[in-house]
Amino acid sequence: MSHELTTNTIWVLTCTSLVFLMQAGFCCLESGLSRSKNSINVATKNIVDFFIGVFIFWLFGFGLMFGQSYGGWIGTTQFAFEDTSNAHWPTVVFLFQLVFCSTAMTISSGAVAERMRFRAYLLLAVGIGAFAYPLFGHWAWARDAAGAPAGWLGKLGFLDFAGSSVVHSVGAWSALAAVLILGPRTGRFSGNKNKQPFSSSNLPMAALGFLILWFGWFGFNGGSTLALNGEVPSIILNTILAGISGGMCALLWELIVSKQISVEKVFNGSLAGLVAITASCNAVNYPSAILIGFIAGIVMLTSLSLLENRFKIDDVVGAIPVHGFAGAWGTLAVALFADTSLFQSGASRASQLGTQALGVGVCFVWSFGSIWLFMKLVNCFMSIRVTASDEKIGLNVAEHGASTELHSLLETMIAHEKGNNQSRADVDNFTEAGIVGYQYNRVLDAQEILLSNVKDREVRYRSIMDNVMDAIITIDLEGKIEEFNRGAEYLFGYHNHEAIGQGIDLLIPPLHQKIQHEYSSGELNPQLVRAIGSRQEIVAQRNDGSTFPAELAVSSVILADREIFTGIIQDISERKDYERSLNEARKRAEAASEAKSEFLANMSHEIRTPMTAILGFTDILLNNLKKQEDIESANIVKRNGEYLIGVINDILDLSKIEARKVELEQVRVNTIELIRDIAALMQIKADLKGLKLVVSFENPIPETIVTDPTRLRQILINLLGNAIKFTENGYVELRTRTINLQDEFSQLQFDVIDTGIGISETALAQIYHPFTQADNSTTRKYGGTGLGLAISKRLVEMLGGRIHVTSSIGSGSTFTISVNTGTLEGVRLRQIDEISIKSAATECNQEISDNINNTISSSRVLVVEDGLDNQRLISFLLKKEGMHVDLADNGQLGYEKTMAALESGEPYDFVLMDMQMPVMDGYTATSKLRKAGYTGPIIALTAHAMKNDMDKCLSAGCNAYATKPVDKRKLLETIARLSAPAGPAEPTSEAANSDS
Ligand code: ADP
Repeated sequence: MSHELTTNTIWVLTCTSLVFLMQAGFCCLESGLSRSKNSINVATKNIVDFFIGVFIFWLFGFGLMFGQSYGGWIGTTQFAFEDTSNAHWPTVVFLFQLVFCSTAMTISSGAVAERMRFRAYLLLAVGIGAFAYPLFGHWAWARDAAGAPAGWLGKLGFLDFAGSSVVHSVGAWSALAAVLILGPRTGRFSGNKNKQPFSSSNLPMAALGFLILWFGWFGFNGGSTLALNGEVPSIILNTILAGISGGMCALLWELIVSKQISVEKVFNGSLAGLVAITASCNAVNYPSAILIGFIAGIVMLTSLSLLENRFKIDDVVGAIPVHGFAGAWGTLAVALFADTSLFQSGASRASQLGTQALGVGVCFVWSFGSIWLFMKLVNCFMSIRVTASDEKIGLNVAEHGASTELHSLLETMIAHEKGNNQSRADVDNFTEAGIVGYQYNRVLDAQEILLSNVKDREVRYRSIMDNVMDAIITIDLEGKIEEFNRGAEYLFGYHNHEAIGQGIDLLIPPLHQKIQHEYSSGELNPQLVRAIGSRQEIVAQRNDGSTFPAELAVSSVILADREIFTGIIQDISERKDYERSLNEARKRAEAASEAKSEFLANMSHEIRTPMTAILGFTDILLNNLKKQEDIESANIVKRNGEYLIGVINDILDLSKIEARKVELEQVRVNTIELIRDIAALMQIKADLKGLKLVVSFENPIPETIVTDPTRLRQILINLLGNAIKFTENGYVELRTRTINLQDEFSQLQFDVIDTGIGISETALAQIYHPFTQADNSTTRKYGGTGLGLAISKRLVEMLGGRIHVTSSIGSGSTFTISVNTGTLEGVRLRQIDEISIKSAATECNQEISDNINNTISSSRVLVVEDGLDNQRLISFLLKKEGMHVDLADNGQLGYEKTMAALESGEPYDFVLMDMQMPVMDGYTATSKLRKAGYTGPIIALTAHAMKNDMDKCLSAGCNAYATKPVDKRKLLETIARLSAPAGPAEPTSEAANSDS
């Protein structure tokens, strides 16, 4: 064997190995670019098509391609290849051609991946290896014994150095035929978008495959010289330059048009360059190689877009644009860029282009046509496409049962999704899927614990729901009932299944006509809306149509995706009945109390009227009587009369307080004057019993306080009265002090101290109860009703204070009361001593009587009064004071007489007007007089002592009022004040109450 032959043998065998390595490149690239569920299938096809390729090519493919040509159309010798030469060079060539055939077959496997049945693919490989590739190869590459072209295309001058068309386009057009019959992968062109990108399983592996392919290409192109000659280096450099320029073209395109760089496109751009240069790598210069590669990139991108967007042809790895279109371009480029010396018999580039174009066309028509017919035929006998479900689960499992860890993890997950919670994912700490499986199992365990907690709670919640007596109902936002507990079944008379799914209006009809009108179904029930967050009384409706009052409380809960409402409904019929009866009872009690008050008022009026006469005339009698015995008797009458009036006043007071009809005044009063008045009054009583009355001040007291002076007087007079009453020897003291001066609740505190009989401990507990006295003999000995302390206690509390007593039998008692002073801002505090108040008290008494005498004597008075006894009594009293008295029997006459006197120029100085009279009462007469322009003083005389009666008098136009029985001194005081020349006749509410 010559040296040259040896070298060539080594070179071509090396190149054969490199081309074989391209199988590995295709395997990595195609399985890396397809989805992982199909990757094993793609890889297996790459291996198995090599088995088929080798066998078929050895058996008859090589013979058809390189055997002795029959008319340039078909090889007819060298079937079941055998080499008898010594040097075995034919075997070297055979091996090289053998791996080319395998490459042509493998190209198709990527395009048809992910949906072609494995068996059908084997037949496709058979078709390519048995006729598509060897026959076109014969037409282009067959040589006769002299080395001249023997195939009809070769004879025409068709040039395709390493097989841009013969190998690559044949594989690609065959794939196109199969792809068209197969149709796109499920979901590839459905949906809103035109094309649905599917993820690649392993891009780094695809990248490795791409680099291996490129490496193999050095052998593919470099070995096509079949000799290690001077052409080889430039062939390899051309191959590299075209590869990089194709890749750069795609990269540039991606950089310009899209944000993200598609790795597949860059790979495919480069591969397109490699495919295109394959036809002319032995005959072009380097710049041409770059240009051919670059244009191949453009051709690839354009054809890819055309196939995908225009024709919706789904080529998984882009084999058709890369090998088919770029191969066709590379074949045409031979005519444009190759050294023309290679063109047969000096053909021009144009005629060479025609020849190249013919070759390209024939390649397409033959490869595509023959394989299309062949696969159609195959498809008649067996579907070449896998079933939809197989496609869904992936061909790895469907075709090969090759379960990956990921797949088994997915299967476990699917089982869980379907409710089979028993199985657990396979755990393997050394694979990603195994680690995911471990974590997934942990999540499952945690979820199971959670679920069992939820179930626990559900059971508890259920038992509460079922055992609670109230109706609990859950509804959704549209008012549809979702839950209906036993309580609800019992209350409404519906079974759970009857109510669920119904609108809430089944149970709670919208109440009012108006609401019903405005409310349309689909909105939430208006009664329900009002009850959200608060309790509402509503009208609910049972299954039998009857309604009942119910209390509804609604709470709303926002779940993950929606809002629901929970309503608790209670039947409140019984409560309502009870409320109704209570209400009625209250009304009856109010009516009874009203009747009692009225009765008291009437009784008081009826008793006071005769008492006026009794007491008045007793006074008159006392003045006239001479005999000591008679005077005694008259005094008994007077004492008992006064006692009776006292009882009536107390009962009236207490009943007013109990009925909460006492309205307190809040006026600023002169504290010192108030104490002075009370001291003056009580001094007389103390003097009568020969007791000393001490008035002392423990600390400075405010000059004025805000209180109800009438009530405060009443309390102090009552306590001092008791002290004097129950003390025989010693003294009675009124001690005053200011407390809590510093804060805003300052109070005035009074001690009423006596050295009297004292109160036993048992009696102390009850002295504030009405009609209660310390012991039964008290009334006999001291008189009294047992009402004074009861009234005082209540009044003290109304004035903001408290009453308190300390006492011991035989040594005396101390009653302490406190009252609020109101604000003391700007009020002076004065330290007062006892002497000054006592002298002031005496002065005061004197001053009053002087004042009365001076002002009222010789006044002209009209007494309007229907009762004859009272007419006589009052006339007597007034005349005694030197007044001139006229009488009128009723309001009408009173009015006429008053107006007549006014008109005659001698008006009355004042009118005393009884309020209850026949013909015309005092209220009407007074209003009539005021309306007629009469401005003189009118004093109301009434036996009604209730506060609203007084107010009624004043609002009718009276200037003052006096209650019956007439207290002579009080009446004269009132008259004197009104007749005083100094001031106008201002209305005054000072009632001339009897204090005794
Ligand atoms: P009355 O004095 O009209 O009986 P009170 O309600 O004012 O009614 O008093 C109730 C009773 O408390 C008196 O009957 C008397 O037994 C007792 N009491 C009140 N004040 C004193 C006092 N200063 N000393 C002794 N006993 C008193």
